[in-house]
Amino acid sequence: MDKISLKALAKINLGLDVVRRREDGYHEVRMVMQTIHLFDRLNIEKTKDAGISIKTNLFFLPVNENNLIYKAGKLLMDEFNITEGVSVELDKRIPVAAGMAGGSTDAAATMIAMNELFELGQTKEQLMELALSLGADIPFCIMGGTALAEGIGEKLTPLPAPPQAYVLIAKPPVMVPTKSVYESLQSYKQGKHPDIDGMVTALNEGSLTGITDRMENVLETVTIIRYPVIEEIKQFMKEHGAENALMSGSGPTVFGIYTKKEDAEAAAGELAKKKIAKEIKVTEFYN
Ligand code: ATP
Repeated sequence: MDKISLKALAKINLGLDVVRRREDGYHEVRMVMQTIHLFDRLNIEKTKDAGISIKTNLFFLPVNENNLIYKAGKLLMDEFNITEGVSVELDKRIPVAAGMAGGSTDAAATMIAMNELFELGQTKEQLMELALSLGADIPFCIMGGTALAEGIGEKLTPLPAPPQAYVLIAKPPVMVPTKSVYESLQSYKQGKHPDIDGMVTALNEGSLTGITDRMENVLETVTIIRYPVIEEIKQFMKEHGAENALMSGSGPTVFGIYTKKEDAEAAAGELAKKKIAKEIKVTEFYN
C-alpha cells in the first residue's frame, strides 16, 4: 500500500477542570473528552524521495516544520529510520486555533497512516506513547471516542459513549492562544470545580441530562472576560433549544448539545443571521 486517505476527527470537552499548576509549569487537568464527526481529510502518500511535503487548502497554515503533521512525520521517521518520504494533502475543515484539537488530530492521523504505510507494526498504545512528546491531546486523538483525561491530558480512561446527540459548533472571530489562557487561570485555587466525577457516573448510566447538567469549563473564567461574545453565543444556544452549551478547550469555540438534529440546524440558521460567530456547523458525537 502506497497511499491512504483518512479522516482526522475533532474533539470537544464536555467538562474541563484544572486541578493545579505543577512546578514545571504544566497544568494538571481532569477533562471529559468526546470525539465529534467533524473532520479534516488527509491523503497521505509514500514517496521515494526523503522528507515530508504538505499541501493544504488554507493558505495561512504552515506547511513547514511548524505544522504538526510535519512534526508527527519526522518523529516516526527518526524513531524507525525511515529513508523514504511522505507527501500529505490536508483538507482542513476543523476550525483552526479553536479548542478542538485540529492540529493534534492531524498529527494523530499522520501517525496512524504512516504506521500502515511503512508497516511499523505499532499498536495504538505504542503510538499514543510516542505521540505524547508532541502534544498532550494527541494520544486522545489516536484513541478517539469518549474518555476521562487526567495528568496533563495524557492519562486516558475510556468511557462509555454518551447517548446520541447533535452538536452545534460556533466559533466567534477571535484568536485565543491556549498558553495565555492557562497562565491567566486563577480559579483552580478557589476550590470551585466542575463535577467531573458526576459526569463520569452519568456516562456510565447513559444519562444525557446527567451529562449536560454538568457541562462546565473552568477556562471560561479567563476567556469570557476577554471575549464576552463567547457568553453571548452560549446564551443564544440555550435560548434556541440546546440542552446546554459550553466553550470547548481553551476556546473560543462554543458547542451546544441538542437531542434533535432539526433543532440544531434551526438554531444554526438563526445564529448565522446574528453575525457573532464565523464558523457554524452541525455535527454529532462520534464513537
Ligand atoms: P487545541 O484544542 O489542541 O488547543 P486548537 O484547536 O486550539 O488546538 P489548532 O487548530 O490545533 O489549535 O492550531 C493552533 C495553531 O497551530 C494554528 O494557529 C496553526 O498555525 C498551528 N498548526 C500547526 N499545524 C497545524 C495543523 N495541522 N492544523 C491546524 N493548525 C496547525
